[in-house]
Amino acid sequence: MLVTMDGSRREIRDGGLYIKGNRIEGVGPASELPEHADEVLDLRGHLVIPGLVNTHHHMYQSLTRAIPAAQNAELFGWLTSLYRIWANLTPEMIAVSTQTAMAELLLSGCTTSSDHLYIYPNGSRLDDSIAAAREIGMRFHAARGSMSVGQKDGGLPPDSVVENEDAILKDTQRLIETYNDEGRYAMLRVVVAPCSPFSVSRELMRDSAVLARQYGVSMHTHLAENVNDVAYSREKFGMTPAEYAEDLGWVGHDVWHAHCVQLDRAGIDLFARTGTGVAHCPCSNMRLASGIAPIRAMRDAGVPVGLGVDGSASNDGAQMVGEVRQALLLQRVGFGPDAMTAREALEIATLGGAKVLGRDDIGALAPGMAADFVSFDLSQPAFAGALHDPVAALVFCAPSQVSTSVIDGKVVVREGRLTTLELGALVERHNRLAGALANRA
Ligand SMILES: [Zn+2]
Repeated sequence: MLVTMDGSRREIRDGGLYIKGNRIEGVGPASELPEHADEVLDLRGHLVIPGLVNTHHHMYQSLTRAIPAAQNAELFGWLTSLYRIWANLTPEMIAVSTQTAMAELLLSGCTTSSDHLYIYPNGSRLDDSIAAAREIGMRFHAARGSMSVGQKDGGLPPDSVVENEDAILKDTQRLIETYNDEGRYAMLRVVVAPCSPFSVSRELMRDSAVLARQYGVSMHTHLAENVNDVAYSREKFGMTPAEYAEDLGWVGHDVWHAHCVQLDRAGIDLFARTGTGVAHCPCSNMRLASGIAPIRAMRDAGVPVGLGVDGSASNDGAQMVGEVRQALLLQRVGFGPDAMTAREALEIATLGGAKVLGRDDIGALAPGMAADFVSFDLSQPAFAGALHDPVAALVFCAPSQVSTSVIDGKVVVREGRLTTLELGALVERHNRLAGALANRA
């Protein structure tokens, strides 16, 4: 069964794809496609969908999952107990944790991910995660995060992990000029991404927006995550988070905000009017008890919404197809059984994510789109008894692993195994580094 997510949302039984290089040439019943190709993937008995798109993550946090002191805190308390551990991160840790996080995403159906890296201790650079992404073969939107307001200036992070604002802007510009590919089928884009209104200044928010627009790259930050976040905004800036974003130029088709759990009615209307996107992170919102994001209301108003697993330390699992299921379940808890269907949840995770990242070349399987797709083996126990509707089963049941993942026309997962890296050795190295990080704190 092939799920296209094309204009008419076709689901094609015995469907197939014909790919040339890194783009899709033909989609339809397998019997109507060319019989010969350099490589034929026989996916009979599989469900094939467009690769899922992850719009919010902090991959380095894979090193600090389930840290005891942060297991039961809300956002600000959680951050405060983790900052001092993260202050000991090294470039090697950034690279290895990025690949581990990407391996987990790839194996759970994700082919494009953004990563928001906002802490750069001990010589770490965004270049470390970019190199890691290239090696594993994931389509990547690397967000140059930053923190500039430390505790002595009334911010949340310790002074030792914040950066100078001029240096942040300079490095961001260097990264855009070095790496950003604005072309169709780009494997790498750079995003301008101050961490959050409570860790950078007004000036940096404003200057970042100017820089991003000068180069035509997108912008990303955290917004309206929970009630304390809203209270901070009102007290410090005299505005709601949405008003603050608008005031600083942080709305538009080129902007997406993570969470927006507490976005109010006026904020939803503003986002809809301006095409401002939202990265919905249901597991993280539940884990930190931030609340239930009004995704139903956002979608009805026309706000672009994508899905995000969020940082591994607040989820703590970067299981992409699982996140699709949680999105559906959480909307129903908040707004009733008809608040979201399985197919809508899948649409948010594919087309929705693509739109939020500013792309029209991923998220659907149609001629001219990038060759990014994944397959799930319908003989796994998770699908048993649900084969009358395998598309809904993907969301309602809980299949965890893909069988195949193709990104940019290349097979990255074959028969459930990563082809680009030796996973066992990677995880072993990751665990060694995570141990060293915990011990140093
Ligand atoms: Zn986040």
